[in-house]
Amino acid sequence: MRTISPLNAIIVLGVCLTTALPIIAAITLARDQEVESEQRHALDIAHRVLSRSEVSGDQILAAAQAINALSPGMACSAEGLAVMRKIDLESTLLQAVGWVDGDVMRCSSFAGNQPFDLGPPDVDSYTRTRFRNNVTLIDPKQRYIAVQIGSAVGIVHHDAVLNFVDYVPGLSVGAFSWSQRTPGAFRGTIPSLIRRPDLTGDTVISSGNYQIAIVRSRKYDIGAFAMLPVGKSSGYASEIAGILIPLGVIVGLLLSGVLLYIVRSRASMPMMIRSALKRGKFHLLYQPVIELRTGRIVGAEALLRWDRGEHDAISPDRFIAVAEDAGLIRLVTGRMLELLAQDVQAVVQIAPDFYFTVNFSAEDMHSADIMEELDRLVERSRIAYSNLVIEATERSLVDIEKTQKTMRRLRDAGAKVAIDDFGTGYSSLGYLAKLEIDFLKIDKLFVQSLGTDAATSQVAGRIIDMAKDLKLAIVAEGIETKQQERELKALKVEYGQGYLYGRPMELEDLRKLLRHQRAVEGVLTRPRVA
Ligand code: C2E
Ligand code: CA
Ligand code: CA
Repeated sequence: MRTISPLNAIIVLGVCLTTALPIIAAITLARDQEVESEQRHALDIAHRVLSRSEVSGDQILAAAQAINALSPGMACSAEGLAVMRKIDLESTLLQAVGWVDGDVMRCSSFAGNQPFDLGPPDVDSYTRTRFRNNVTLIDPKQRYIAVQIGSAVGIVHHDAVLNFVDYVPGLSVGAFSWSQRTPGAFRGTIPSLIRRPDLTGDTVISSGNYQIAIVRSRKYDIGAFAMLPVGKSSGYASEIAGILIPLGVIVGLLLSGVLLYIVRSRASMPMMIRSALKRGKFHLLYQPVIELRTGRIVGAEALLRWDRGEHDAISPDRFIAVAEDAGLIRLVTGRMLELLAQDVQAVVQIAPDFYFTVNFSAEDMHSADIMEELDRLVERSRIAYSNLVIEATERSLVDIEKTQKTMRRLRDAGAKVAIDDFGTGYSSLGYLAKLEIDFLKIDKLFVQSLGTDAATSQVAGRIIDMAKDLKLAIVAEGIETKQQERELKALKVEYGQGYLYGRPMELEDLRKLLRHQRAVEGVLTRPRVA
């Protein structure tokens, strides 16, 4: 049975996550938007019910003032009835007004002197307002609310404060007495929330399958509620979901596409490196190394480049790391040494003491064959070991014994050894003391933070002190400014490398620089002819 490798499992998991997470995020977002929009809708309905109730209250209050101004003797006279009919006509929400004595409405704007028994009040509020919530008058099917203040009564149809509310299936709405927590006009079910003693003002909550909004009047002892079933109301929410969810799907697919692209291009890179090695698609550039005191070019670091055309460049940092992971680094180093062998003679002819710096990976340092390879290079290119500096990174110190052995053999043969990128890895002073090395290369990170406030700015100084204690020469990398150069010189750093002196360049350009340097030096040292 085939098993899935951990890497493939991680990739599959990564693809699933990058697809699913944006979709889940979109759904959650759409859901949140929906809840928010439904709660806003519920609140809006409750506010409208409340404001209709308040308008009814205003009209009842105005009517009561006018009616209570009539004397009991004349209230139900022709004159009193005329006043009541006028009020009835002018008020938009009152069905009728009347005069009450005890529980009986003696006369009214709509039935003259015909009496109606209103029954006892349901709510006798602290404002001395009496509510009767289920009054029937002429038609037994029509139910009214009778609000009595003093002897005056205003009759409001149950639907008057509710009938403007949009029809939403399952919606419950109503008005209620705030202090008594008893409902007045309402439709559907009354949420138990209105009876909660901790309810003090406007509230919106999600409860079960409903959004419940409750609002309280600042004018009257009344509140209003709306209980809106979830998922029934807002077209806006589904519109948002209609945008967000496809967007989530697109982002998810794009992300997993990018992930797959990265994984595939990484996975296929070792194959491409192999093929580039076969087809001779690598070449070397050289970056000058300067003696800081004199400004002379004393050496150059050989830096590998992969010829892939300008638009498809891959930095050596990346392809070297891939080659190391894929077990191809020994082949890459082999090619680098072959390329170097072709170039060195042309330089040594101009500057016999010149040295070439080459980068070795951990595996090169650990390899038993490395000396044979170097022997071949030296022999084929007719240079001396003293023309070579081998740079090993701190990573090669993982197997310190093998590395120590290689270093000793290199130095015995006459080459010099440097520790590259010092300070970025995990080597300690203890390790350094055990190694037979000549140079320490301070990483550009520390050089570039010299004179800044960065936490790393102190590190260069410490590394330099340490190197001096161990009697190691120092090469500072990544010098880009005169200021950095000045600071390094003040710290007595011997060598430097960086864009200030030259970017990695073609062999021919390096030769030109060296010829120029030799010419200048020739002029300076030639005895003056009188
Ligand atoms: P490295 O050994 O630390 O090489 C120095 C890097 O710093 C080079 O990058 C160089 O171009 C860059 N550099 C030099 N001066 C400056 C400067 O003033 N400012 C800035 N910002 N950068 C500067 P490059 O050529 O891209 O090489 C990157 C890394 O790839 C090298 O870092 C080295 O670790 C590795 N590499 C390159 N060629 C080889 C090789 O043949 N074998 C091995 N094993 N590694 C190599
Ligand atoms: Ca290097
Ligand atoms: Ca370096």
